[in-house]
Amino acid sequence: MTERTERTERTERTERTERAGRAGRTGRPPVLSVRGLSVRFLLPGARRVAAVTDARFDVAPGECLALIGESGCGKSVLASALLGLLPANAQTAGSALLGDLDLLTAGERTLARTVRGRRIGLVPQSPAAHLTPVRTVRSQLEETVAQLTGVRGRAALRDAAERAAERAAFPADHLDRHPHELSGGLAQRAATALALVGDAPLLLADEPTTGLDRDLVDRTVDELRRHVDADGDRALLMITHDLAAAERIADRIAVMYAGRIVELADASAFFGAPGPRHPYSRGLLDALPDRAFTPIPGTPPELGALPDGCAFAARCDRATDACATLPPPTGPVACHHPVPAARTLVTEETRA
Ligand code: SF4
Repeated sequence: MTERTERTERTERTERTERAGRAGRTGRPPVLSVRGLSVRFLLPGARRVAAVTDARFDVAPGECLALIGESGCGKSVLASALLGLLPANAQTAGSALLGDLDLLTAGERTLARTVRGRRIGLVPQSPAAHLTPVRTVRSQLEETVAQLTGVRGRAALRDAAERAAERAAFPADHLDRHPHELSGGLAQRAATALALVGDAPLLLADEPTTGLDRDLVDRTVDELRRHVDADGDRALLMITHDLAAAERIADRIAVMYAGRIVELADASAFFGAPGPRHPYSRGLLDALPDRAFTPIPGTPPELGALPDGCAFAARCDRATDACATLPPPTGPVACHHPVPAARTLVTEETRA
């Protein structure tokens, strides 16, 4: 990346953060408000897996919130809970308000008829599996347009489907292909086109860049960002382990570890100065090849056997005896010894 491009992108990111901050300050209610969301899976032998614990965050109109963390930390379970797509052995607690509708207590009929596709557009984790294998992309787009919009008539549906494809940069000359005839990138764009059809106020993108090369990652997330910026009323919750994608388009970052959100921060502060304050968040950034390229030691704990205290303690070089109890979940950083906000460089001396 050239210095000028990098500077331009950082400026754009700062502008987005300010825009999201303004949206929050306008007093407009959040598009999505999650409080105390927990998910437990009940397994044979009275075992319980704490997949998500006490998640709380808002997503404001015009805002992109990126939920980041390693695979298996509970991000996608949280997304499934919001869409009412958890398996039968899952128990939920807390609330997730989309307007005045609590997604956690809404019935399947309500979710199927009024939420999925209409109020929440889903960009799925596995687009090839999400698409119907025996039907062309055109036919799936036309059916979705017919279901989610008032468009009727063969010619009108054809036009609307082609416009939907264009919004996601899906090439018109591939519309009559079946999913197995598409590359991973094109399947992703087809799934994105389907997710955008309903003009939903909340777009939920679950690992939307998996399997894409960097150029396609940038194009895909830019398209999602454009959807949010189009009228300032929509919001995007992007679940990803791709920190570069999050840095490119997010206004705020929520970091998840072992089922808990451990840090919520403005993206510009998180990726720039002063940087993340939770030791795990800092470790995630330090592991990037273009930063310290130093992996976090150890592995995450099993969600079915979490310790009583901080779940990151076994991997944390700031841990003390105090960390044997859970850090309070309130505030932007759930940690007994967060990295001081004023510090931009971590040294052994300042850590002591
Ligand atoms: S609470 Fe303690 S162990 Fe957990 S991240 Fe903070 S310093 Fe490390």
